Amino acid sequence: MLSDTVEKIGRLLSEVAAMQRPHVARICSQCEDPCCNRVHYLFTEKDTLWLTLSGQKRKWRREAVKTKGCWFLGPAGCLLEPAARPFICHRYLCPELEAGMEAQAPGLVAALRKRFKAMDELRSEMWRDYLDER
Ligand code: SF4
Ligand code: SF4
Repeated sequence: MLSDTVEKIGRLLSEVAAMQRPHVARICSQCEDPCCNRVHYLFTEKDTLWLTLSGQKRKWRREAVKTKGCWFLGPAGCLLEPAARPFICHRYLCPELEAGMEAQAPGLVAALRKRFKAMDELRSEMWRDYLDER
């Protein structure tokens, strides 16, 4: 059922955000060229569908357009709640972040990748079910 799939994605999102949090805080805060400064708008149709179906506020439609960096990057980092961020923001692990995670928590990257794969499959399922219900 579509609502079950949406819920499962939400649970996995919270899980991967919690697993990454201490490492992101340690490594990304020291980054000299943050990835958030090198992108603009990353939401895909699946992201916005999930956000709509999970009842999130429509912050992803913010009108402000910056010429440099993500539209949602504030002075103290991302302005969005973890669950409201594009999926790519969760799953992108640059080589430094990946190496730092592996050094402190062996097996964490593999555990994250397993969850990213499960989320990919659930997101495709959500999309299919949504279109079937139209
Ligand atoms: S993920 Fe990598 S590139 Fe992005 S802010 Fe963290 S350390 Fe920097
Ligand atoms: S949405 Fe947040 S985490 Fe993703 S690129 Fe923008 S500022 Fe970075």
